Amino acid sequence: MKELKEYVRSIPDFPEPGIIFRDVTTILQDADGLALSIDGLRAEIKDLEYDLILGPESRGFIFGVPVAYAEHKPFIPVRKKGKLPCETVSMDYDLEYGKATIEIHKDAIKPGDRVVIVDDLIATGGTIEAITKLVESLGGEIVKIAFVMELEGLKGREKLAKYDIASLIKYE
Ligand code: IMP
Repeated sequence: MKELKEYVRSIPDFPEPGIIFRDVTTILQDADGLALSIDGLRAEIKDLEYDLILGPESRGFIFGVPVAYAEHKPFIPVRKKGKLPCETVSMDYDLEYGKATIEIHKDAIKPGDRVVIVDDLIATGGTIEAITKLVESLGGEIVKIAFVMELEGLKGREKLAKYDIASLIKYE
């Protein structure tokens, strides 16, 4: 079997000149790539005690749900503003151009819940930083943040220095 990194397609100059986009769809469209990514994430959290897995729209769903299912844990979706039907808590954060708002259902996390966050990729870490604030505003404790890919040059890990972070594939 190939290594997980070999399933990632790298696209130069997307979405703009000078950026190399790491395409996760080529992991997913190969059964071995999919298995390697989910098994790799599961291995990162197997010795932890935690209550739930949380993942952001939309690629955090793709990776987070199979991990939660396999580990028999609940999955909590983090969504863009206005999508969740019940009472929510929300957090604004900065994007490269402009701002975004994410939300979770207020009753999805109880004080003292131990939370694992799963996502496809950490770039600047801004998205996950906003999620950590949301989780902690509800009294949750973040025990691990696991990514498939990490763009090390963007130093997202420094922004999240107080958390236990794992990534299966690292790019400079
Ligand atoms: P951050 O908030 O800057 O860490 O951005 C994280 C999000 O940006 C990830 O969840 C991805 O969806 C997206 N992203 C940024 N760069 C890439 C890339 O090269 N490939 C795939 N997704 C990317």
